[in-house]
Amino acid sequence: MSEKMENIVHEEETLLCKSYSRYPIAVARGKGSRLWDVDGKEYIDLLSGIGVTDLGHCNPELCKTLEEQAHVLWHVSNLFYQQEQLDLAKALLSTTHHSKAFFCNSGAEANEACIKLARRYMRTIKKRDAFGIITLEGCFHGRTYGALAATGRQSLSQGFEPLPEGFSQVPANDLPALEKAITADTAAVLLECVQGEGGVVVLPEDYLRGVEALCRKKDILLICDEVQCGLCRTGKFWAFQHSGIKPDAISAAKGLANGLPMGAMLATDEMARGFVAGSHATTFGGSALVSKVANRVMEIMLRDNIAERAALLGAELMAQLEGLQCRFPGLVKEVRGLGLMVGIELFRDTDKVWRQLIEAGFICNLSHGTTLRLLPALTIPAGELEKFVICLESLLEDLQG
Ligand SMILES: *Cc1c(COP(=O)(O)O)cnc(C)c1O
Repeated sequence: MSEKMENIVHEEETLLCKSYSRYPIAVARGKGSRLWDVDGKEYIDLLSGIGVTDLGHCNPELCKTLEEQAHVLWHVSNLFYQQEQLDLAKALLSTTHHSKAFFCNSGAEANEACIKLARRYMRTIKKRDAFGIITLEGCFHGRTYGALAATGRQSLSQGFEPLPEGFSQVPANDLPALEKAITADTAAVLLECVQGEGGVVVLPEDYLRGVEALCRKKDILLICDEVQCGLCRTGKFWAFQHSGIKPDAISAAKGLANGLPMGAMLATDEMARGFVAGSHATTFGGSALVSKVANRVMEIMLRDNIAERAALLGAELMAQLEGLQCRFPGLVKEVRGLGLMVGIELFRDTDKVWRQLIEAGFICNLSHGTTLRLLPALTIPAGELEKFVICLESLLEDLQG
């Protein structure tokens, strides 16, 4: 470890709350799909800040918009009308069947908005005391109390109890279990069409259509958490659009402002009736500066057919990785993914391979200790993905012995 790096590690230990186990890299700067650490070492970034800098680090067009807006208006609170929010709402709503937007600052907050709207809609519009939110095993919806309860993972909630009531969980891809779990108290089903933190698990389209049919039959709401799988990541603008289902609301965040904090809930006109002035609010949500940048993100995504690009590049990458699985059936357990949201599950030594990748200058995520998760920028040059595959191939060769 370099002296610079040692100092940073030491300072962090004395200054910050213990809440993260860091990767062994101190990042100094980024450009496109490249990162440089404090010692000048260059990396190909296949994680993009956990699927956030979708249009690349320090994207020049976004830098220009950010700089221009920085001299116009940053923040005035939601006590005021702001054209920037309306422009962004128009752009977002043009991509989906929803017709109302609510802006906030993160993925967890976007899910909180969905949960609150679902409950309030049931109480005030449907006149039913239905509050239950059903989620799926393997999901991740965030770390605030509501989102944590929705996530339902003991390892994340230990020590923080009591959690809010009204959350239950069923196995994914099991319609009878879901049907059994729906009661008169149920307000909504909340799910990720592609589970991200769960290790890149693509829920089958017929299952999703089955969930939608159940929700309609039981007259409850369907909410899709698109925080990670949305915004072109999986090869469609929204992941739910692969199956043709029409969720009543969706949450978005991660890539929305390419790294500035921003979240959004999009809802149908009908469900949005559940909120009135004062029902829900945030100080920062939808500030002029962040909305302007997010609006530019939307413009670029639509102009450059980023969803299509993610679909094409993702298909090529998956084919190459499936090739590796055929070559190394004893090492590669499964290759999963949709678009540029990809998981490579190994039988053993995933941690070692992940470390070797970092040494070789490739950054990806180690998920559950068994899966390498790739969430590259959607603008990544195809050659960078090929370099990764070649490197992984040589590491697997070594591992096979
Ligand atoms: C990251 C993530 C969240 C939480 O987002 P934060 O911005 O960290 O609150 C919620 N849902 C999914 C699917 C995510 O991937």
